[in-house]
Amino acid sequence: MSTAKILILPGDGLGPEVSAEAEKVLVALRDHHGFDAEWSRALIGGAAYDATGVPLPDATLAAARASDAVLLAAVGGPQYDTIPRELRPERGLLGIRAALGLYANLRPALLFPELAAASSLKPELVADLDILIVRELTGGIYFGKRESKVETDYRVGEHVVASARVSRDTEAYSDFEIARIAKTGFEAARLRNKRLCSVDKANVLESSQLWREVVLEVARDYPDVELSHLYVDNAAMQLVRAPKQFDVIVTSNLFGDILSDIAAQLTGSIGMLPSASLNERGQGMYEPIHGSAPDIAGKNLANPLAMILSLAMLLRYSLKRGDLAEKVETAVKRVLGSGLRTGDIARTGEARVGTREMGGAVVAALKG
Ligand code: NAD
Repeated sequence: MSTAKILILPGDGLGPEVSAEAEKVLVALRDHHGFDAEWSRALIGGAAYDATGVPLPDATLAAARASDAVLLAAVGGPQYDTIPRELRPERGLLGIRAALGLYANLRPALLFPELAAASSLKPELVADLDILIVRELTGGIYFGKRESKVETDYRVGEHVVASARVSRDTEAYSDFEIARIAKTGFEAARLRNKRLCSVDKANVLESSQLWREVVLEVARDYPDVELSHLYVDNAAMQLVRAPKQFDVIVTSNLFGDILSDIAAQLTGSIGMLPSASLNERGQGMYEPIHGSAPDIAGKNLANPLAMILSLAMLLRYSLKRGDLAEKVETAVKRVLGSGLRTGDIARTGEARVGTREMGGAVVAALKG
């Protein structure tokens, strides 16, 4: 690949602080590991609204389209709660996701053994947890046809309601959308432990039956990946019973929304979790799952590791530099192993470091 182009969108709240630490990591990769990349910054969210009057300026979108990958911190803050809805920071986020056609959401749940006590599950169930949830992001019930109306003689079992207010949402998937996300799941499994679990509700839902059929068709191209299927209710139960049984889970928009939050909670720390959203060209947007944390912004208290681990995902999935991603992840492991903790991952009595110190330690580990 020629020189990789990365766009950094610091956004709001703690965004600029954690972005600065990710940039330090990029500099270390360039200076010490021969990483051929250039990067620039652009405005999004409240910061863009303040400077330009809109949350997603055309210049930002153009820069994003011209990049191989986008690294975004977070947007939002209470000062924007009263402005018109279409100008709010989150509109910038939804706008860029839609404009780039990001249909696949990758949410890893990774628990470093040093942080096992932070989970709500017993340490032995979650230590070294490393699973990836691949969620379809642009189809299904969140985008299906909706309606609300009054219906007469509406049947509920034995009851007939003379006049009922009824709302419907539609779960619709085409074979095209299912095949596309299934391929993403299989490809991701190939980069990991080669096990894919497809989650559906094929015993009840028509759309899930198609889901299962198409996943089985796509599986023919991936004989090296072991495929299994679970109904979503069982998958939710298995995630809290024995989460380490999973490698990669692929599922629909609605099921993925719920399962990825369950998986995130298994790790116990919002400041540690990265995510990726990919389009068909492999271009992606990478972001921590946390928000802009206005309560701690600007105080050197934020944990920059979710942002740094988002950069690692960017290296692996958009730039195909799994070797550099591993270097970053190993550096993070070493820093945690040496006992460094920001406030969100420190236990009572443990010493705490700030955002800059944590980022600096990752950089030092990368150089060493
Ligand atoms: P939040 O994730 O910003 O914060 C929740 C809690 O986690 C807070 O106590 C915060 O201090 C802590 N926290 C979050 N990230 C942390 C980090 N890196 N290090 C240490 N502690 C961290 O969620 P919220 O408070 O519900 O939302 C705050 C703002 O962020 C809102 O405006 C919301 O709309 C926005 N938000 C944006 C995104 C996004 O940009 N993707 C996601 C969620 C929320």
